[in-house]
Amino acid sequence: MVAEKKKTVKEVKASSETHAKTEHRELKTENNSNCIDRKCAIHGTVETRGRVFEGIVVSDKMQKTITLEWPRLNFLQKYERYEKRHSKIHAHNPPCLSAKTGDKVRVAECRPLAKTVTFVVIEVLR
Ligand SMILES: [Zn+2]
Repeated sequence: MVAEKKKTVKEVKASSETHAKTEHRELKTENNSNCIDRKCAIHGTVETRGRVFEGIVVSDKMQKTITLEWPRLNFLQKYERYEKRHSKIHAHNPPCLSAKTGDKVRVAECRPLAKTVTFVVIEVLR
C-alpha cells in the first residue's frame, strides 16, 4: 500500500494581509477627550504592534468589543479555483470610537486584552 500524499487546501494570503508590515505611527495624543478606557489605543496604555486589518463590523453586542469580518480567497488545488471565505476576529472597541455594526474599521494587533481579543480598533472609516 502506497501512502498517498494528501494536498487538498492551500492557504492563500488575502489581500488585506499583504500590508502586514505596516508602520505603527504614534497614536497617543494629548488627552483632550474624556476617554478613561485603559485599553484604548489612543488614550490608554495599550501599545499596538504587528498586523493591521480592515473589516466590516458584524456585531457590537458585547461590551467594548466588536466582531469584524473581511473576505479572503482560498485556493482549491483540485479545481484550480478560488473559493470565498471570511476571516473573523474580535477587537476591543473603546468608547471614544464606539464603532457600530456596518461600520468599516481599521484594527491593529496588540497584547491580549481578553481570551479572544488581541486587536484594538484604531480608526473608524466611514
Ligand atoms: Zn479613547
